[in-house]
Amino acid sequence: MDLNICKIVDVQLVQVNEVTSSNAMELEGLKRCLNYLLPLLSVHSITTDQHPSVQKYLRDCYSNIVQYFHVWHVAKSVKKKIEAISQRRDCSVLAHWAQAVSNHLYWCAASSAGNGDLVLAKWLSILNHVCDVHTGHGELYNECMHGVLQPRLWIRAGSKSHKELELIVTNKLLCRDIKRLAFMAQTSALESYHRVMTFFAPKNVHFFYSAMESRLLLAALHYNENSNRQQAITQTGDPQWRISFPKARKGNAVATAVHVPVTFAYVDELLHAVVELREQFSSYTKAKANVQHCQHANPPPVAASAVRTSKQDVVCAHVSRFNINCKEVQHEQQISIQPFGHNRPPPHHNHFTALFPGPPG
Ligand SMILES: [Zn+2]
Repeated sequence: MDLNICKIVDVQLVQVNEVTSSNAMELEGLKRCLNYLLPLLSVHSITTDQHPSVQKYLRDCYSNIVQYFHVWHVAKSVKKKIEAISQRRDCSVLAHWAQAVSNHLYWCAASSAGNGDLVLAKWLSILNHVCDVHTGHGELYNECMHGVLQPRLWIRAGSKSHKELELIVTNKLLCRDIKRLAFMAQTSALESYHRVMTFFAPKNVHFFYSAMESRLLLAALHYNENSNRQQAITQTGDPQWRISFPKARKGNAVATAVHVPVTFAYVDELLHAVVELREQFSSYTKAKANVQHCQHANPPPVAASAVRTSKQDVVCAHVSRFNINCKEVQHEQQISIQPFGHNRPPPHHNHFTALFPGPPG
């Protein structure tokens, strides 16, 4: 995604059997994206998560490209740590600060124009801020930029809560990564694209490779057409907002802008392309052969690497354990129905059959 214009510029699908392990899929996707994009445009910076193999690859192969880290991943990790510490004895006050510290991290990255040292200086100032101290943070960032604050649960300097928070905030690896937080545009746009992608290709439904690839491309077309929609307005001309209570905010209300309805102009373009292909090729077979000629070879299905066993063996192995229980329960049922007479069916017979089907045939 080009974060400056919020448009998807390339989509790469990696199937797990194309790489050595599922852990290597992200790196493979990045390699394919860069192979495709670099001959077409110049890439100055790239924003990723903190995956070690991705960091190493970019450092070794593309040292001219600046790598930034997605703020969402770092902020989420920090918030989780603070919430975990707040469960400890004498640290409950930190529960009130977890979201605020996470928000502060977003602000540090967004307000520093990529100056890593300034991001870090702003970040460390939170240790004073939580103690109601808003000046004297340091040379680069000496004074908080907020105005008058409402009363809140301040933390006492030197208390156990403050010491625990200090351990999290000043963590060596965290401070190293914080200097490289992405500052440009809205990285939340990527999360928004992921939601569109999940709509077009639900995770709980299996799709074969070509179907999955098509759905991902459709998701990208849909997202690109609708990513920069205007905020809707009410009848009185005011911007329209929606209030939600996401689970991640633990019941706190969040205001979200309501946008104008989505459009589907890309569907018309696809239909035009189909008509053009129909005019170009006299039959479906010829058109399909042309597409196969243009496309790269699809990897074999993941199931192709599985050990092939006859269906009968698998079914027998599956039901054998139930057969044992089935016979035992059937025996008990037969004994229990004796007082009702042999002509009467055992109670819940149908339900019993459905739960413990007998062997086929
Ligand atoms: Zn402050």
